[in-house]
Amino acid sequence: MNCAKGKQCRIVVFPLPFQGHINPMLQLASILHSRGFLISVVHTLYNSPDPSKHPHFAFHPISDGLSESPDSAPDPVRIIKLINLNCLQPFRQCLHALLSHGDVKCLISDANWYFTSSVVDALSLPRIVMRTSSVGAFLAFAALSLLRAKGYLLDRDSKMEEPVEEVPPLKVKDMPAIEMYDAEDAYKNIAKMVEETKKASALIFNTFEEFELPEIRRLHEQFASPTFAIPFHKCFSAASSSLLAQDRSSISWLDNQPPKSVLYVSFGSVAAMDTGKLREVAWGLADSGHRFLWAVRPGLVHSSEWLEMLPSGFSEATSGRGIIIKWAPQQEVLSHPSVGGFWTHNGWNSTLESICEGVPMICSPFFGDQLVNARYVSDVWRVGINLEGGLERGGIQEAITKLMDEKEGEEMRKRAMMMKEKIDVGLKMGGSSCSALDELIDFISSFQRVAG
Ligand code: UDP
Repeated sequence: MNCAKGKQCRIVVFPLPFQGHINPMLQLASILHSRGFLISVVHTLYNSPDPSKHPHFAFHPISDGLSESPDSAPDPVRIIKLINLNCLQPFRQCLHALLSHGDVKCLISDANWYFTSSVVDALSLPRIVMRTSSVGAFLAFAALSLLRAKGYLLDRDSKMEEPVEEVPPLKVKDMPAIEMYDAEDAYKNIAKMVEETKKASALIFNTFEEFELPEIRRLHEQFASPTFAIPFHKCFSAASSSLLAQDRSSISWLDNQPPKSVLYVSFGSVAAMDTGKLREVAWGLADSGHRFLWAVRPGLVHSSEWLEMLPSGFSEATSGRGIIIKWAPQQEVLSHPSVGGFWTHNGWNSTLESICEGVPMICSPFFGDQLVNARYVSDVWRVGINLEGGLERGGIQEAITKLMDEKEGEEMRKRAMMMKEKIDVGLKMGGSSCSALDELIDFISSFQRVAG
């Protein structure tokens, strides 16, 4: 490693303060630490990670002007905009202090921290952007401005099934369109994120190259910086960066279930639904007759503490074959031999964690890149059933039966297992992910900072 004599080099990482962003950033940091780098984690007070779970990293909190308590149903668009404004000054000071104390090689910043670009430029520090979505989803975000200008996203309801030729295989209904009161503002932020990503020294994606070859090719046509594709979940667990306590009783319950008999159900850390939808989910599970492990995060249901809105009769109907917990040790659950399927919102981490364990999916995307991921899972990789009809008990029951009992589900399971095996091979010496990691280490080591 190319550092000052007798010294270790430091990398500064700056995760966005959401579970789906903190996990992959700290996994990447663990990988880099295992390769000899010192790690400094700059983080907001909002959704702050627990330093005691990562004793080998140095943590540097910065003020963000937000409440410190984790939100059970956060509004990411609003928060991303606010923290990009509020963190500029504190981040600059923090980085300045870090640079004055040692040999910092680069900043690895979440793509959504677009303000960091001007800060590092002024300090002559290289900035690598880590994008926590798939490459396909990133291209969909990068195409949004053009697609809006072409009118694709106007009158969306009438053309939902139309293909979007700029970002195959996506249809209009898969586009991460933003439908909210200050959508204009949100689109501006996405455009800034894309623009500042173009200026980065390199891009890192938590993905597996062989699954996204056409997308990576298209990425290179639009983004000149070198790109590194590495599936982090296979290298380090995300358990240590969990913001909520993971309920390990689920593992002992799984230990007593037959092989591949349990459907694991979770909609991640941000998605939320109304009581009507919760009831459809509950009756779909009950009517399917299948075993299930359901992670119901407090905040999953609007205006509800936890389980008080479950329909009466649900517990009796599912007694002995299903349990509900608040938050699961998800990777461990997915790797458990009793789990045969994952009903997911298709956040990218959940999608990749499922593929990494060879578990086929039922897809219920809520918003953003989840829509894109669900399309790839169902139509490109064919390892899942997309619940296109939404959360409705009849469709849910049908999908569960198909996935867990029928030949179609079995075929998906086989394909998911093949994807898992490919990832395993990719991480071995000479495999694409292993080589990408070696190249990333060489790339970072080659940085020579001109003191600014
Ligand atoms: N997760 C978990 N326990 C749960 C549900 C989710 O540990 O009960 C973890 C999961 O393993 C993943 C992250 O939370 O790493 C969720 O990220 P994802 O991108 O799937 O979705 P998001 O929460 O960002 O919508």
